[in-house]
Amino acid sequence: MRIKKLELIGFKSFKDRTVIQFDAGITGVVGPNGCGKSNIVDALMWVMGDQSAKDLRASAMTDVIFAGAEGYAPLGMCEVSLTLENDGGPFPAKYLKHSEIMVTRKLHRNGEGEYFINKEPARLKDVQEIFMDTGAGSKGFSIIAQGMIGKIITAKPEDRRMLIEEAAGITKFKARKKESQRKLISTDQNLVRLQDIIGELK
Ligand code: ATP
Repeated sequence: MRIKKLELIGFKSFKDRTVIQFDAGITGVVGPNGCGKSNIVDALMWVMGDQSAKDLRASAMTDVIFAGAEGYAPLGMCEVSLTLENDGGPFPAKYLKHSEIMVTRKLHRNGEGEYFINKEPARLKDVQEIFMDTGAGSKGFSIIAQGMIGKIITAKPEDRRMLIEEAAGITKFKARKKESQRKLISTDQNLVRLQDIIGELK
């Protein structure tokens, strides 16, 4: 999996449509303080499904929408699209035939959000599944924010374990286990209810 392109519309300081191309090799983003370098990383985390406003250096999720600037009114929505090259990396099987995968996230000022994969409506779960065990993803170890190294060193063992599990490629299986356990509990509850009904009918 390789990140090819990031497109931002109305995200934080990126009022106008901005396309950032990632060619092979290393891409550096340079600019004066406050010009929006970290906002690009925030956009990457956000499009990969980050649910925490705090992670995105915001107090509410809608704060990621362009809030206006001198001479410019605030916008009503923002949109970020991330294009990934499918180079045979660990993509879910259903996407293996696609040479490119585009993940899009939109957010409206009223708090309504949408996800798309290759322009088709998708669930947050589908988006998260694409990045699980790749090291990318909003909680992946490949995004190292300022101060994170210190945080990892002083983190609780269980928090540090999450990073090791992601690197070891077992996050996906843990998520599926949790989902199966949830379904088992719900099935057990249905069985109890069914037994009650059978008892009443006898
Ligand atoms: P530094 O080098 O100091 O770390 P940076 O280049 O990483 O700076 P960012 O933190 O990415 O800068 O961008 C900060 C700028 O983004 C600020 O000017 C802030 O006002 C602007 N900004 C953040 N959120 C929004 C928003 N919702 N609408 C408009 N502008 C925003």
